[in-house]
Amino acid sequence: MSHKRLFIPGPTEVGVENLAALAQPQIGHRSREFVELYDRVVTKLRQLLETKNRVFLFTCSSTGVWEAAIRNCVGRRVLCCAQGAFSDRWMQAAIANGKQAEALRVDWGKAITAEMVDQALSGGDFDAITVVHNETSTGVMNHLHEIAEVLKKFPDVMFLVDAVSSMAGAPTPVDAYGMDVCLAGLQKAFCLPPGLAVASVSERALERARTIEHRGYYFDFLEMLKYDDRHMTPSTPAIPQIYALDAQLDRIAAEGRVRRFERHAHLAGIVQQWARRHFALFAEEGYESATVTCIENTRGISVAELNEALGRQRAQISNGYGKLKEKTFRIAHMGDTQEWEIRGLLSSIDAILGL
Ligand code: PLP
Repeated sequence: MSHKRLFIPGPTEVGVENLAALAQPQIGHRSREFVELYDRVVTKLRQLLETKNRVFLFTCSSTGVWEAAIRNCVGRRVLCCAQGAFSDRWMQAAIANGKQAEALRVDWGKAITAEMVDQALSGGDFDAITVVHNETSTGVMNHLHEIAEVLKKFPDVMFLVDAVSSMAGAPTPVDAYGMDVCLAGLQKAFCLPPGLAVASVSERALERARTIEHRGYYFDFLEMLKYDDRHMTPSTPAIPQIYALDAQLDRIAAEGRVRRFERHAHLAGIVQQWARRHFALFAEEGYESATVTCIENTRGISVAELNEALGRQRAQISNGYGKLKEKTFRIAHMGDTQEWEIRGLLSSIDAILGL
């Protein structure tokens, strides 16, 4: 078997138990069994996200839910926090959906702070804001709790959060932070195959959706709400993925939500320490991600060659994203990754580079 153990920030390594959970005989999506499955999964997701809000299941990758959040929640004008490849792209999605969007932009590697958000929202007529909690391209994790505090001053502004590479790996307490939409795909810290995304949707967000005429069809929150009342999705969902999510949420609960977050923070600490010793961190100090570390290539190594050499040892890391290719590289420590795996990877890199 030539599989390379994935240390890339998605898709992440999927355990054999989760692979097995995918391979169950199918059931009808209007059957009693499905209703029970849906109910179990949504209940467990609510616990993980610490919310009483609705949680919808989307058969698509995270990009689809970006579009859903924009179409359902932006009436007038959206402020898009832009600090890397993914936050920039969410803004492009807003523009592509015909919305007026303005960027709150910082250099790649920098964080979006609560003060910046406060200033930008005070100066414009916005009714929504997009924030990427963990910018996967730069390894920057914004201080969401501080941004959430500022958002309380702007009750008409929908707080739309991409927690794609943080959910299930770092705290995303939806109700405490007042997030109106908090979305993620499953191929990151949930460590399931790509294809299903989840999002919590607040009452306020549903109220906003009621005021918006063209919400689209596939991702119409109000249609999803109607079916959610019956513990179903409007169209045929990715049932194998939902089975696997059901099983994985049990494993997450068995580890314990808080312990899982602590494990991620611990692994991040190990990688950051290694990176500081041999290279430098790309993320602004104090905002280093708990799920993926972006390392500045201060030694001018060939990241592609390093990855080839790792590949011969059946492991894979990520080159820098887009314009950061070869200038940085990324090691993901999200999902079910254990300390021995991270230490093994770092030892392999040490040996390959002669560090
Ligand atoms: N948001 C973030 C933070 C991401 O890291 C990614 C993908 O890596 C996406 C959104 C887009 O996800 P997808 O390609 O699954 O649609």
